[in-house]
Amino acid sequence: MALEEYKRKRDFKQTPEPAGKIERGKGHRFVVQKHRASRLHYDFRLEMDGVLKSWAVPKGPSLDPADKRLAMQVEDHPVSYFDFEGIIPSGNYGAGTVMVWDVGTWEPEGGADAMLAKGDLKFRLDGEKLKGSFALVHIHSRRPGNKGTEWLLIKHRDAYVQEGYDIDEYDYSALTNRSIDQIAADSGAQWTSSRPAATGRASKKNDWLADSIAKADAAKRKSAKTTKSATAAANTTAAKKAPAKKKSSGSSGEKKNA
Ligand code: MN
Repeated sequence: MALEEYKRKRDFKQTPEPAGKIERGKGHRFVVQKHRASRLHYDFRLEMDGVLKSWAVPKGPSLDPADKRLAMQVEDHPVSYFDFEGIIPSGNYGAGTVMVWDVGTWEPEGGADAMLAKGDLKFRLDGEKLKGSFALVHIHSRRPGNKGTEWLLIKHRDAYVQEGYDIDEYDYSALTNRSIDQIAADSGAQWTSSRPAATGRASKKNDWLADSIAKADAAKRKSAKTTKSATAAANTTAAKKAPAKKKSSGSSGEKKNA
């Protein structure tokens, strides 16, 4: 996978997410994003071959080896997605609140490409929350409707095991220390990147999890339309990166690549 599917699913005039490009040679970082879309899940991403290999983990990762977490492989994301924290406007693919839940580096325990192709990727994580040895294991399910995207994320036994691990006790951003509610309530900050979103009519693209998102976000969509003039002010809270240099023109059609 390159980034074609990522780009196909998104309208970059409507979402502040990065359009992105393949970036080789940056190394082995990982990020876990807590994503409150129509349904809460965690996006587990490994930097590999110039993109972020990505899995959506409904229950999130665990440090308890007894928890074998379902992980649905999704489209590769651009490396520039790495520090994406903020709000994806309603009506867009994956609409909702995104937190950078954990960041760090990862180390494959063997040849990464070969392990990935084989469907048995073993690796070590050195993050703020997740540490030690893990595996992503591809499930070869014969269940009808199985798309071949189902993996399991499993913690190996080592010094970092926490039995009875409860991910809800760790509801804070590795970047900004904010809870998911605080990020969601931070209506001034749609996004902590330098690229402001042009806002306007919502597209009809939906998250793979988001079959009911249109209804769920009906109320929010109304308020999203009012953020057009607030976009410039919104980006002043972008603490991690430089604030947006461009003044929001308020014209919704113009594509901005800051
Ligand atoms: Mn997601």
